[in-house]
Amino acid sequence: MHRFNAYRIFEKEGQVSARLVELGIDDLDPGEVLIRNSHSSVNYKDALAATGTGRVVRRFPVIGGVDVAGVVVTSGDTRFWEGEAVLVTGYGMGVEHDGGYAEYSRVPADWVVPLPLEMSSADAMAIGTAGFTAALAIMRMEQNGLKPANGPVVVVGASGGVGSVAVDLLAGLGYEVTAISGKDDQHEYMRHLGASQVLSRHTLEMGKKPLEKTIWAGAVDPVGGEMLAWLTRTMKQDGTIASCGLAAGIELHTTVMPFILRGISLLGIDSVQCPMALRRSVWERLASDMRPRHLKEMTRTIHFEQLPETFDALLKGAVKGRVVVEIQ
Ligand code: NDP
Repeated sequence: MHRFNAYRIFEKEGQVSARLVELGIDDLDPGEVLIRNSHSSVNYKDALAATGTGRVVRRFPVIGGVDVAGVVVTSGDTRFWEGEAVLVTGYGMGVEHDGGYAEYSRVPADWVVPLPLEMSSADAMAIGTAGFTAALAIMRMEQNGLKPANGPVVVVGASGGVGSVAVDLLAGLGYEVTAISGKDDQHEYMRHLGASQVLSRHTLEMGKKPLEKTIWAGAVDPVGGEMLAWLTRTMKQDGTIASCGLAAGIELHTTVMPFILRGISLLGIDSVQCPMALRRSVWERLASDMRPRHLKEMTRTIHFEQLPETFDALLKGAVKGRVVVEIQ
C-alpha cells in the first residue's frame, strides 16, 4: 500500500504533541473526495492545535492543517471529478477531521470548493483561512453599508495573516486604510500593502470615555480585547466593525453608548462554518475584483519540518503575513 507523510497531532496524559508520521490512504478519515494535496498553510488556529495552547482539537490523533489545496484523485460525488483542482478550508479540518498537513486528504464533498479559474493552489493557500476571513469580513461590512466614501477603515493586527490580506484587499477596493500594528519595524511593509497611515499599537492613546472622537467608518479586528473595545468607542456614525479574532484576548468591555447613539454595528465573522454559497462567492471575488495584489510579498513558503518553529513564532505574534506549506 502507498505510504505518505502526514503531520499528526497526538495527546497523551493531557500533553499535546505533533510529529511527522507515515500513513496509508486507509488511515485517513472517511469522505467522498480523495485529494492529492499540493499546498496547505499556517493559521493561528493551526498553531493553537498543534501546540495544545488552545483546546481546539476535538479528536486525537488528527492530522493538522485547517486548509488544503490539491487535485481530486477520486470522487464518490458527481459534483467533483478526477483531476479537478480544489481547495478546502475550515469545517472540521485539522481539529476533528484529518487536515491538510499530509500528501493526501479525504473529505466530505460538502466541504470542497472548486479552485477558482486563474488562481493557483499556491495562491489559494497564500490566502488560506486567514485571507478568506479578511475577505468575508470586508464583504459583510459592505453588505452593512460600508463604502470607500464613508471614511477611513482601520485594520488592527495589521502585519499578521488576516491583517495583511485585509490591508491589501481594502486598499485594492479603493478604501483609505489605516494599519495598526505592534511591529514598529514593519511600517514600510504595511504601507507597501496599501495602508496610507500606519500607527504603532504601543503608543496608541486609547482613552477611556464611552464615546471618544469618531475616526473610523469600518474596522477589521483579528485582535479582540482592549483594542476591540477602543474601536467601538471611536467608530463614526453607522460605522461597522468586523470582529474576527482573539490574538489579544477574548474579553470585550465596552458600553451600549456607541451602539445606541452612533448606530454602530459589530459583525461576527466565522470562516469555519461559512455557508457554501457565500464561501464560493468569497473565493470568486478573491479571484476577481478582490484579488490580493501583494500575495508574493506577504507570503513565505515552508515545508513540514519547519512547522514547529513557525507555530512558536505565530503564537508570539512574530510572524509577518502568510505562511504557505509546500507539500509536493
Ligand atoms: P497572526 O498571528 O498571523 O496575526 C495576529 C496578529 O495580531 C499578530 O501578527 C499581531 O499583529 C497581532 N497581535 C498579536 N498579539 C497581540 C496582542 N497581544 N495585542 C494586540 N495585537 C496582537 O494570526 P492570524 O492572522 O492567522 O489570525 C488572527 C486572529 O484571527 C486569531 O485570533 C485567529 O484565531 C483569528 N481567526 C479567526 C477566524 C474566524 O473565522 N473568525 C479565521 C482566521 C483567524 P501586529 O504585530 O501587526 O500588531
